[in-house]
Amino acid sequence: MKKISAIVLAAGKGSRMNSTTKKQFMEMNGKPVLWYSLFAFENYGVDQIILVTGKEDVEYCRKEIVGKYGFTKVTDIVEGGKERYQSVYNGLKKVTGDIVMIHDGARPLVSGAIIDRCVKGTLEYGACVAGVPVKDTIKILDENKIVTETPDRNCLWITQTPQSFTYELVKNAYDKMQKSNSGNVTDDAMVVERFSDHKIRFVEGEYSNIKVTTPEDIFIAEMLLKRK
Ligand code: C5P
Repeated sequence: MKKISAIVLAAGKGSRMNSTTKKQFMEMNGKPVLWYSLFAFENYGVDQIILVTGKEDVEYCRKEIVGKYGFTKVTDIVEGGKERYQSVYNGLKKVTGDIVMIHDGARPLVSGAIIDRCVKGTLEYGACVAGVPVKDTIKILDENKIVTETPDRNCLWITQTPQSFTYELVKNAYDKMQKSNSGNVTDDAMVVERFSDHKIRFVEGEYSNIKVTTPEDIFIAEMLLKRK
């Protein structure tokens, strides 16, 4: 049996939320946003959870989230970095599993079904990402907001998390990235794409698996949770 670890990221500043409370700790239907993804990983087939948070929030998370709600699979609460990929790297150092799922703590609506598809996808392909096809037409613009390209919509997918990999693959790719001066990395698949030859497979995500980023997202996520 492969051991499965999850890294849940909650070290972002959440500046687009325009709130004094960081988005991962804001209340949604009576529980902090972060509670929902920890609950999903705790209950759907994961053996170890590593929570990554801001230095100033480690104690808060230990007492007010992990302790208060009794998350028994959280083995480590580690300090994140300035950029998302630095937070991931800090989390990767604590992983003891064969497979690692990396998840934005700001995606409270991750379901057991998505987690299951990611695990199965990783066992089969070694690297997979949850995602959904785009519904809108996407344009690429230049700095003057002039359209330079309209990519074929049939090839465009929205990338969500979890992003799931065999530990060796993702750790090696991140180790290589640390030694290079690579910037502008916004997800984990990008690191594996750039620093390995391994192909990334998409598995079916859900349109409801939104990332809570701006104030209206809290409202939308609460509505979606009520529907669940
Ligand atoms: O900033 P963005 O919305 O892409 O963040 C996605 C996730 O990564 C969030 O859950 C956020 O808390 C986390 N993050 C982090 N460390 C950072 C930046 C973002 O853990 N330095």
